[in-house]
Amino acid sequence: MPFESLSERFQAAFKKLRGKGKLSEEDVSEALKEMRRALLEADVNFAVTKDFIKRVREKAVGEEVFGSLNASQTVIKIVRDELTELLGGTQSRIAIASKPPTIVMLVGLQGAGKTTTAGKLARLLKKQGKSPLLVAGDVYRPAAITQLQVLGQELDVPVYTEEGCQDPVKIAKDAIPYALSHLRDIVIIDTAGRLHINEVLMDELVNIKGEVHPHEILLVVDAMTGQDAVTAASAFDNALGIDGMIMTKLDGDARGGAALSIKAVTGKPIKYIGVSEKLDGLEEFHPNRYASRILD
Ligand code: GDP
Repeated sequence: MPFESLSERFQAAFKKLRGKGKLSEEDVSEALKEMRRALLEADVNFAVTKDFIKRVREKAVGEEVFGSLNASQTVIKIVRDELTELLGGTQSRIAIASKPPTIVMLVGLQGAGKTTTAGKLARLLKKQGKSPLLVAGDVYRPAAITQLQVLGQELDVPVYTEEGCQDPVKIAKDAIPYALSHLRDIVIIDTAGRLHINEVLMDELVNIKGEVHPHEILLVVDAMTGQDAVTAASAFDNALGIDGMIMTKLDGDARGGAALSIKAVTGKPIKYIGVSEKLDGLEEFHPNRYASRILD
């Protein structure tokens, strides 16, 4: 269960507030202190945490909650709104091209869940009436190509590969006319990852981007890696420019730090979340629903 500790701690703080009649400034300060500790322990970025607490406090002052009755509901609502904001505010959808095919490029570090997510995304988009084409651009890992082919077969979604070709830029480029002639309206390009961010990886991704002009570049990040996911997101965004994130492994016991920091730090939203290893384990990300999951 992800966010378990954070969830428990916030709920405990709320319970204390609800137990009071009038709220004093000290009661609110106490609750905020508890929330601050909970966020930091959940590995939320320090500056993000500080800012969050500051905003809640300012809003509480603005709403004149101190000394008034039933103010706990107001404070709890402020926290809920701010948490939703931290998770991205409103839902962010992927851009769909006015003229097909829409080109989606998936990038990320090795092991983040890119190839699995490519399959999951194809499944989700197919369910929404689209005709996806998967493109095997992770040429350095033959297993990734096979993995994608297996997923494609399972989903009845075609997979574009070029046998023996070691040039991912060429493969991505060639996949576009293939998609057009096979009436596929969404092209999902799986790209190579590396264990660490390096110039070779970024150069390759920049070259693919320059050649195919994706409508959407989505970074796949692993929620379990906490602040490393946030650091990776900043690096990818600076070097390549990304449109959003898919955060995987939110079914694990991730403490929550990555999900709660990544939008504030990078300015880019989470668009989908991975919630199981299975092919149906990808969901559109709704910040308000997620905030409720943590707080209710
Ligand atoms: P890649 O190297 O980025 O292409 O990563 P893979 O797609 O091969 O995935 C790495 C591992 O993470 C695999 O064992 C996947 O089954 C697993 N995985 C991917 N997404 C999720 C998820 O949302 N939840 C869980 N529990 N496992 C996931």
